[in-house]
Amino acid sequence: MSPESHSAAEIPERLRLVEQEIAFACEASGRSLHAVKLIAVSKTMPAAAIEDAIEAGQRIFGENRVQEAHGKWPALRALHPDIELHLIGPLQTNKVKEAVALFDVIETLDRPKLARALAEEIERSGKRPRLFVQVNTGEEPQKAGIAPDHAAEFVTLCRETFNLGIDGLMCIPPHDEEPAMHFALLAKLAHELGLEELSMGMSGDFEQAIAFGATYVRVGTAIFGTRVLLE
Ligand SMILES: *Cc1c(COP(=O)(O)O)cnc(C)c1O
Repeated sequence: MSPESHSAAEIPERLRLVEQEIAFACEASGRSLHAVKLIAVSKTMPAAAIEDAIEAGQRIFGENRVQEAHGKWPALRALHPDIELHLIGPLQTNKVKEAVALFDVIETLDRPKLARALAEEIERSGKRPRLFVQVNTGEEPQKAGIAPDHAAEFVTLCRETFNLGIDGLMCIPPHDEEPAMHFALLAKLAHELGLEELSMGMSGDFEQAIAFGATYVRVGTAIFGTRVLLE
């Protein structure tokens, strides 16, 4: 099973393999299998590939661009109403309306201006996606997310000033560092803030993220194969 292959027939097999690895990681860390949910990251993938994953039983998906998701998902959702769709990429305030309409979970809340825009749109539309705060655990200047030192203050602002329920935290560790310390930091912050959900771990490190308490892992390549289009 080469990762270079894009044969759609392999998607169900890869999905089963990832599910097995999640089960092993849960067992190894003494966690219940039900405590960890798999987000199949379908960014850049065509609807046909997504359909293969849905047919194989997958129901939770992640996309990183509002525009791309808007092009693919309304039709898929009409056919499969029980899908749970997560936004895992940066959200601009001018896309908030579309994002609230389309996504069940927005994982990338990371600044007061976005919190205000989300609060206004939720009030206006009556639709209330679940919200995670993205934390820039590596404090990388080019990366989205609130700095770890400001996470508590920001979560309080969301809750008290904007009346937004926050369900969890999300992080994307730096490419060139051991992810373990980032997962540990995110778990510690979530614990301190009384937040239940932890979205962390990708194709290369989801087993480790599970050991550190991930409740959602976001896996793309290991399910769909290498992305050929630009992200
Ligand atoms: C693309 C992406 C993933 C999935 O990455 P893989 O390495 O393909 O599993 C996870 N999280 C975010 C935020 C992403 O943009």
